[in-house]
Amino acid sequence: MKILVSDSIVEAGVQRLREAGFEVEVKTGLKPEELIRVIPEYDGLIVRSATKVTREVIQAGKNLKAIGRAGIGLDNIDTEAAKERGIRVLNTPEATTISVAELTIGHMLALARHIPQATASLKAGKWEKKLFMGTELYGKTLGIIGLGRIGREVAKRASAFGMDLVAYDPYVREGDVRDLGLKLLPLEDLLRYSDYITIHVPLTPETKHILGKRQFELMKPGVRIINCARGGVIDEQALYEALVSGKVAGAALDVFEEEPPKDNPLLKLDNVIGTPHLGASAEEGQERAGVEIAAKLISALS
Ligand code: NAD
Repeated sequence: MKILVSDSIVEAGVQRLREAGFEVEVKTGLKPEELIRVIPEYDGLIVRSATKVTREVIQAGKNLKAIGRAGIGLDNIDTEAAKERGIRVLNTPEATTISVAELTIGHMLALARHIPQATASLKAGKWEKKLFMGTELYGKTLGIIGLGRIGREVAKRASAFGMDLVAYDPYVREGDVRDLGLKLLPLEDLLRYSDYITIHVPLTPETKHILGKRQFELMKPGVRIINCARGGVIDEQALYEALVSGKVAGAALDVFEEEPPKDNPLLKLDNVIGTPHLGASAEEGQERAGVEIAAKLISALS
């Protein structure tokens, strides 16, 4: 059987497919029409986020039996079209959990101590010690919205900093998370008590703008917000207004409603720091994702 790897994954993943007896071709950077032209040759396809597996690609893939996404989100794959043709779609939701959790903690520390702004100031030849007076995480309350894989890893790490933990997740029961030493609260209470709020929910119709104007109004003045989940779970306009009014002291964003952001006013504010959707971009996470997707594809095609 032939597999096309159309976005780069770790060599160990490609090797694993070859050892399992598959013929593997790595062709990255294919244009949509080139992908449609070559796809009939292949039984399996592995992508990351660059390749768009559209309905046209899926319909052209006459021999296609499985599509693997080395990563979590399936936004770049027309899963409906795949389902209609009986093609399995696989992903690796666990592989980058730690990578995202660590970036979240990094953002929280950067917000508390103004690390990005102080670096920029230092590099500009300034020595602004007073301006960058920070705060400790110790003793502060962290509100975690979404207590799945990433939310739980964030909880463990924040607990080591001596933070008090509260969480909102309507699909999790107290007994499931007893070992994390946190309290499950209704969302409104979490908003009222938290000094830091981090979001780890998928983007669904239910979670779209889970933080909007009304939710910002309920928050403690001076709260700091971290979003390493998906653009769209926060109403960016409402966040902008809350930052400008001073209700929210700072925000750290890895994800945006429009990516890459175009003239996003949030990025003009000094109290906003950000990264270009780097949550899963850690070598170890990518290594795991590449090897795991190869293993899943082997098992699906066997
Ligand atoms: P997960 O499925 O393990 O956890 C999601 C949690 O959200 C679940 O516990 C679920 O019960 C909860 N949830 C669902 N709807 C909710 C609601 N309305 N209110 C509160 N909680 C709700 O997913 P995960 O692996 O922890 O990942 C979380 C999110 O992180 C992903 O959906 C993805 O969008 C994002 N992510 C981002 C990056 C990045 O690069 N920044 C990388 C990987 C994942």
